[in-house]
Amino acid sequence: MPQLDEADALALWESGERLSMLDRAVRLAAVLGGTGIEAAADLPLPQRDRLLLAALRQMGGPSAAVVATCPECGTLHEADVALAPLLETRDAAAPQVTFGDRPAALRPPTSRDLAAAVVSGDAATLAERCCDAPGALADPAAIEEALDSAFPLLNIMIAMDCDDCGAQFARRFDPVPLLWAQVTARAKAALATVDCLARAYGWSEAEIFALSPTRRQLYREMALQ
Ligand SMILES: [Zn+2]
Repeated sequence: MPQLDEADALALWESGERLSMLDRAVRLAAVLGGTGIEAAADLPLPQRDRLLLAALRQMGGPSAAVVATCPECGTLHEADVALAPLLETRDAAAPQVTFGDRPAALRPPTSRDLAAAVVSGDAATLAERCCDAPGALADPAAIEEALDSAFPLLNIMIAMDCDDCGAQFARRFDPVPLLWAQVTARAKAALATVDCLARAYGWSEAEIFALSPTRRQLYREMALQ
């Protein structure tokens, strides 16, 4: 997987800042996987999210902090989610769902399927697109359950306990906003570096990004002294 350097992060952030989280996820997958946008939109979501989780671990460390509000008392909680166990999950080899005695094959959804589901506004769209059962037989709820069990990364739920009121609740874990926050932080750090070195030495942005990260950092420290 390519490392996202400061210039990459800045370009990615600029191109994705006005997009929806789904389009950002596709853009991230395209950059990290070294493919075009169309190919990234067709990546199965488990594959896309393994790319994103690996990048999250590389940029943010072995665990990611998620925050959730207790549904009972409103207290804000934070939990550290270890990323390695998520990266080690395995998908079912030939997932199926059975209606009566008729088995139907399942395939993992892609970002394109998610976009189609959003456009249609119909909760059953995703299930219908990812299962080859005849429409009359297909039960969207059963298909979704079978998809979640075949592809564990589709629906990662984090169990949380409220210390204040004792409530137990679960929150869905989504790597996309967490990775986007890392990209945003790196892009803003890159802008601050360019601003600092351009003021101190009169260099252009291209000249500053042509320096190695180590030299950039050293010049920045000297400029700030
Ligand atoms: Zn509570």
